Amino acid sequence: MTTNPAPHHETYPLGLRVGGRLAVVVGGGPVAARRSRGLLDAGAHVRVVAPVVCEDLAGLTASDGVDWVRRDYLTGDLDGAWLAHTATGDAEVDARVAADAEADRVFCVTAGDAELGTAWVPAVARTRVPGADGTDASSGAEVSVAVNAGRDPRRAQRVRDAVAVRLATGELPLRAVRVAPGSDAAPDEATAGEARTGGTVGSVALVGGGPGDTGLISVRGRRLLAEADVVVTDRLGPRGLLDELADDVVVVDVGKTPGNHPVPQAEINAVLVQHALAGRRVVRLKGGDPYVFGRGGEELDACREHGIPVEVVPGVTSAVSVPAAAGIPVTHRGLSRGFTVLTGHEDVGKVPAASDHTVVLLMGVSGLAETADALVAQGRAAETPVAVVEDGYGPRQRTTVGTLATIADRAREAGVRPPAVTVVGEVVRLSPAWEGDATP
Ligand code: SAH
Repeated sequence: MTTNPAPHHETYPLGLRVGGRLAVVVGGGPVAARRSRGLLDAGAHVRVVAPVVCEDLAGLTASDGVDWVRRDYLTGDLDGAWLAHTATGDAEVDARVAADAEADRVFCVTAGDAELGTAWVPAVARTRVPGADGTDASSGAEVSVAVNAGRDPRRAQRVRDAVAVRLATGELPLRAVRVAPGSDAAPDEATAGEARTGGTVGSVALVGGGPGDTGLISVRGRRLLAEADVVVTDRLGPRGLLDELADDVVVVDVGKTPGNHPVPQAEINAVLVQHALAGRRVVRLKGGDPYVFGRGGEELDACREHGIPVEVVPGVTSAVSVPAAAGIPVTHRGLSRGFTVLTGHEDVGKVPAASDHTVVLLMGVSGLAETADALVAQGRAAETPVAVVEDGYGPRQRTTVGTLATIADRAREAGVRPPAVTVVGEVVRLSPAWEGDATP
């Protein structure tokens, strides 16, 4: 019997293809069950050697084709094995398995005293990503990150958990780099419109990016952004995330600024469709939520008409979050029982006039005087508090307060500019800006 060579902690990381190959697990407890499950998932043929097994292992032997040798370990049980695991809870038996494995030149993981073994099981984070050929995530490639941390498995698990979170959110670069046959070109404006993947249709995700802060996009949205080939972006939304995109991601800016000529919606739709039909993964990154005055429904229809798979990812709408940034809850026990979101004075007449109903106005800066007048004409008190919140979560964030009678003048004097959200109702009194204002 050969004994182990002197302990040597350096490891040589490998991914083992155990499919169809025999792996022997010695021991019948929960650790043995976990290892057996992992080996089975990787396609191994598993043999368990143990006089008794725990419930989990019993399940595997009953239904998953694990062979169970129902007795204590005997030298010779590793015959034919490519890999051994021992987790008997008995140091002497584990040592014997390890020594037999060493003699047979079979790599062996020992659960009790890792020092005895010749292989360590890393902590693993896995995720599925869409394939480079356009296949979706369910059938795409797997990215796995295996973490070894010497003899400190808890440290390895902590690092693994941190990696897993970043894989889930897309903070790690998961994007498949797809290259046209016979070309090493990355996608760029020049090749836009040429199919690069042999006719596979790409996809479009309408992603609500939130009010602008890079931390207020959803995990799903962040992840899709990290996998995108093309990002079609607006003036509003988390533009800071664009800086993190890889150099070869095409960014199309269709941002509309008041006064500047907006890109017509039909043209935006055409850009989405064209890139997706060319096989690219397109993210339409929108401010707030795609369906709150975001024309997301039209973009969805345009893609569907061309048979393009579309996913809609909701976002944090500015209608709720920008007031919150100014300390204003749109509903509040005793002050507001509901809220309505509008874009201007045209629809004011259809809104409950009660003082406990909050009105939120988007895109309303230029029409503020008319809207305030219309609300008073519909029965709201002229003293109803109003706040105009500019550039919520941005560097220019500022709150101007007044009443329905005074807000238009105050906003003009303050030089209020878009983007801004206007809030009308008693809840405005909860804003620090209201308390700090001597003469509202
Ligand atoms: N879909 C978006 C709204 C698009 S309409 C959403 O759900 O938020 C554009 C309007 O949103 C702007 O005119 C402004 O009224 C408001 N808006 C969006 N982001 C804003 C921000 N960070 N600060 C203030 N207003 C904002």
